[in-house]
Amino acid sequence: MHAMRVVIAQMQHETNTFSPVPTPWEAFGKHGAWVGREALEAVEGTRVPMAAFVDLARQERAQIVTPVAAWAYPSGPVDGDAYERICSLICDAVREGCDAVFLDLHGAMVVEGRTDDGEGTLLERIRAIAPRVPIAVSLDLHANVTERMVRNCTVIAGYKTYPHVDGYEAAELAGNILWRHLRGEIQPVMAWGNRPLLAHTLKQNTGEGAMREFVEAARAAERGGMLAATALGGFQLADIAEAGISAVVVADRDRAAAQAACDAILDAAWRRKEDFIYRGRPLEEALVEAKRLGEASGGPVLLLDHADNCMSGATQDSMHVLEAALRLGLDGIAVGPVRDAEAVARMVEAGIGNRVTLAIGGKVDMPAIGRKGEPMMLEGMVRNITDGEYTITGPQFTGTRCYMGRTAVLDTGKAQVVVTERNQEPWDRGVFESVGIRPEKQRYLLLKSRMYFRPVFLPIAKGSVLCDGVGVASSDWTQFDYRKVRRPMYPLDEWRGPLDR
Ligand SMILES: [Zn+2]
Repeated sequence: MHAMRVVIAQMQHETNTFSPVPTPWEAFGKHGAWVGREALEAVEGTRVPMAAFVDLARQERAQIVTPVAAWAYPSGPVDGDAYERICSLICDAVREGCDAVFLDLHGAMVVEGRTDDGEGTLLERIRAIAPRVPIAVSLDLHANVTERMVRNCTVIAGYKTYPHVDGYEAAELAGNILWRHLRGEIQPVMAWGNRPLLAHTLKQNTGEGAMREFVEAARAAERGGMLAATALGGFQLADIAEAGISAVVVADRDRAAAQAACDAILDAAWRRKEDFIYRGRPLEEALVEAKRLGEASGGPVLLLDHADNCMSGATQDSMHVLEAALRLGLDGIAVGPVRDAEAVARMVEAGIGNRVTLAIGGKVDMPAIGRKGEPMMLEGMVRNITDGEYTITGPQFTGTRCYMGRTAVLDTGKAQVVVTERNQEPWDRGVFESVGIRPEKQRYLLLKSRMYFRPVFLPIAKGSVLCDGVGVASSDWTQFDYRKVRRPMYPLDEWRGPLDR
């Protein structure tokens, strides 16, 4: 038998349709997506899903073709040309002939002016080129799964953790099923379904509450004999018809069993729909509590500026939480990261050890929530300047090289503000340590994060407080004008639908 030729690629973007942050080709990778040999090198030895597909193909002694590895931070709709470039790379590789395709996808990509279903559209194109070639797909837990995606691939398996620490395992599961299929051992069939529920990401921690039960129902289906079962929380900052929770189940030949398992998983979530909704409180109230915690414990206490979380497409430059914290007298705050290339340039110009007064943050307007950017005037010393590169040592995306762009630290006395040229989630100690800040030594860590801080910063924290600031990743959906989401949709509408029983 000839060595199999397999195409392995990554296309990952979670599109926040309310975000003003653009997503051109350059937003992917370091200065654009990794192509060909570079795509392979970018993922090898890491724990990203694509790496699992590569490892499995190596075990099978397959010829590996990696046309592209494209990962960008969540942001506004993907630029049409960038999307076409990524798709063409993958489709051209398939057109050259292959025995199987393995795709590491997010599952919530919206493309400017072209499609609200970037993944489904890509899969449809691949199927049109190679109708009989089996396709395995791994998805993020926040995928908004569409019928078109399911119809145009062979196997789907998604992450079962949030914060995501099992991307590799999800792809390994999807990949193994496809390899067994290639060997003729099994005949995978899929069932898919959704419920009209937009679940707050703050309520999608798989370690607790309703989300834990939702994912546990998927695990139970796997224990009960399904090849793969995935409970997807979905991404709600996406004004598209199919936003919301869904489930996908893969069975060997038995479609009815897959559908029954899928419905059971979805029912587990729907029964607890109220528990997927986050109810906020005034920012000042949260900060007063944080101040008390910080003074009593010495810290670090985490101030979670979740509305400005770049991993949900926020601008990462809103200063409201820092402004309120300083006004309320909090002291000893490390702020991580604020994205402001202009401010970085000013600090680089001034040089380490010199004092500057400058406007930080608030450079990007947010028309979707009717707000202009509001910079904050800060005065302090430039404490450090770096190239902003580090390698993740923590449990999420372990081994991945990170590029924050040039990075500078402004020390105002009460706060040390890490300012970067590019988006960066505080998902690893490297965000602070690469610029000489030891997180344990701070009384407060103001993190523009909602979930990824958990495995890294919760273990060293004396407390954490959700701070409802300003941003396009806000959990206050009354600010957003949803037009395309199918209705009725809980909790946007008072629910009186037939699913209540
Ligand atoms: Zn996610």
